[in-house]
Amino acid sequence: MPSYDVIVVGAGVAGMAAASALARQGLHIAVIDKGLPDVLKTGECLMADALKIMARLGLSEDFLAAEHRSLQAYDVTWGQVPGYQRHLLGSASGTGWIVNRRHFDAMLLEHCRRHKVAVFWQNSLQKIEKNAAGYWQLQLKGQQPICLSARFVLDASGRARAFVRQLGIASRRLDKMVATSCHIHSVSELSASVASIASDHQGWWYYAKYSATRGSLCYFSDGDLPLPDGPKSLVARASEQSLLAPLLADARPMTATFKRCAAYSSVLKSCVGDNWLALGDAAASFDPLSSYGMTSALSGAFYASQALVRHFNNQPKYLQTYQQLIQQNFLTYLETRLQEYEKVSGYDSPFWQRRRQEAAAGVVPRAEESDGRHSLLGH
Ligand SMILES: Cc1cc2nc3c(=O)[nH]c(=O)nc-3n(C[C@H](O)[C@H](O)[C@H](O)COP(=O)(O)OP(=O)(O)OC[C@H]3O[C@@H](n4cnc5c(N)ncnc54)[C@H](O)[C@@H]3O)c2cc1C
Repeated sequence: MPSYDVIVVGAGVAGMAAASALARQGLHIAVIDKGLPDVLKTGECLMADALKIMARLGLSEDFLAAEHRSLQAYDVTWGQVPGYQRHLLGSASGTGWIVNRRHFDAMLLEHCRRHKVAVFWQNSLQKIEKNAAGYWQLQLKGQQPICLSARFVLDASGRARAFVRQLGIASRRLDKMVATSCHIHSVSELSASVASIASDHQGWWYYAKYSATRGSLCYFSDGDLPLPDGPKSLVARASEQSLLAPLLADARPMTATFKRCAAYSSVLKSCVGDNWLALGDAAASFDPLSSYGMTSALSGAFYASQALVRHFNNQPKYLQTYQQLIQQNFLTYLETRLQEYEKVSGYDSPFWQRRRQEAAAGVVPRAEESDGRHSLLGH
């Protein structure tokens, strides 16, 4: 049975960044993923803070060389207040990027290849066991059954939490948000370097152009509410928004990229345990309104890899430090998220009623300190 220092479950941003960081330290790493490498993912807006983390992960040079589009501002219509533009140039951290995910994910894969990470695509985690020597044994379901073993497992499988779910680790889930999204073909440059956000009766919209001919269109609502049921209805409903209509005038949906996926906020009760650790969305997942998920995945990869290297050098307390960091960060995020949704008035629908009820119930314990990273819309 092939044996590794660490097996990473999930080849998303968190998993690939952690795998290459650990392999750079000389550890023998495998990544497994149920999907294929060339799937076009969603999640483009990257805040400026992420560059510092990428520098620590050894990714920043290649990231900058890829010439992702600059994100200079957000155009926002949020509730009944007049629309406004939030410029990032004058913000504390500066302008960010509208990332081309195909190039970004290819960069992460290339770094894994460079550092000799073994990647098992189209292999879904099926069953976990621990042997008498304390090694994890992971059975995978792919074209052929494979079993891998490792001293340590990182769960980077997103909200699926494929590994920790089998351990019965509980999570706290705050809402039922789902995303309906589709990549768009458009040559209009009306929204170049700008991401657009617009609330509607049952949720909110996001649109950003990440290349001269492509953009990403998403609608966020709750899973039990009426949702666009295909790429055409997604574009048609978005085009009813006065902010989005001119930007989508020439839009053609790339129908194969239409999908619906979970977008709820949640956190694991414990994101470290006996020779395992969770990171990225698996540890804590954020409302995409925060544009924080990818930065969290990258910083989780950095801090998790640091903690793990120290753990292997008989300094286990750093795993607890990592756990505290994740929990504290999530509390800070929750407070800001509520503040942003509280600003929206004028809609009397289940989506907005639920956000107001959550705020009224005061479900968020006050965070002790804030580093200001989670200003959702920043006005
Ligand atoms: C519509 C939408 C828009 C978003 N926009 C933004 C944005 O603009 N900016 C931003 O920062 N964030 C955004 N986010 C959030 C961001 O995309 C995520 O936070 C981030 O990608 C999480 O990365 P991850 O590596 O933790 O998880 P994922 O990217 O979810 O990767 C998990 C991987 O695990 C694999 N996996 C799952 N189960 C198994 C299994 N059983 N066996 C093997 N493999 C498995 C999956 O195939 C997947 O590749 C958005 C999210 C959504 C849904």
